[in-house]
Amino acid sequence: MLTKREPLIIANWKMNVLPNEAVSLVLEICKQVSEQAKIIVAPPFTHLSLLGSLNNDNIFLGAQDCHEKDFGAFTSEISCPMLKDLGVKYIILGHSEKRLSNPLENNRITNKIKSVLQAGLKAVYCCGEPLDIRESGKHLEFIKIQLQNDLPTNSFPNIENLIIAYEPIWAIGTGKTALNDQILETHEYIYDWLSDNYGKKLADTIPILYGGSVNSNNAAQIAHIPNVNGALVGGASLNPLEFANILNSFYLVN
Ligand code: PEP
Repeated sequence: MLTKREPLIIANWKMNVLPNEAVSLVLEICKQVSEQAKIIVAPPFTHLSLLGSLNNDNIFLGAQDCHEKDFGAFTSEISCPMLKDLGVKYIILGHSEKRLSNPLENNRITNKIKSVLQAGLKAVYCCGEPLDIRESGKHLEFIKIQLQNDLPTNSFPNIENLIIAYEPIWAIGTGKTALNDQILETHEYIYDWLSDNYGKKLADTIPILYGGSVNSNNAAQIAHIPNVNGALVGGASLNPLEFANILNSFYLVN
């Protein structure tokens, strides 16, 4: 298991905030966190350039998706080389909101991860079960199928740049956080799957983040779960004090 080290806390702003508001939001977060904190922000694509121009060593840019091809006739799409050129370091892939809005998305995730890793960027791969599956007790089987489909063995370059985010769909944006035992169990399952399929040596280096209604009230408790290496934060990342408190809670534990 990856032992505690610098936590990865990623703000997923989704389709929120205007570009100029993004600048004040991120600068406000900077003011409230300890100097060593790494602030990873995945704003809408349209804000990346402006945030990159701040040239702030604490701010790391993330993107919320990418296309699997580098260039071509793909109207409205954005590729890894374009994002890399803007200074993006992390790309979120397989988010449940993308999967749910287009079921074909599921078939593209492997190639998207490949493209991100090929570009030398970090792929933040999301997996997680819907409520009915959790209630039926088949959540681990569901996660296993996602991992098998999306992370087929021997298909990725630079696999050490993979990050996994466990995001139970029923906890996203609902205010309902998964219980500590549920997080512990699923993270352990993901670690074991990685270890069986990619080897223990690699599994020991892949961070596993939790996402789903993380806020300043529950962050410390989640940060203490031994196999949680950080968090993917949606709603609470739009409030600078909330997000800063989440970051500070994780840094206190690590
Ligand atoms: C997310 O969408 O990745 C997420 C975790 O959202 P929230 O924190 O709002 O549940």
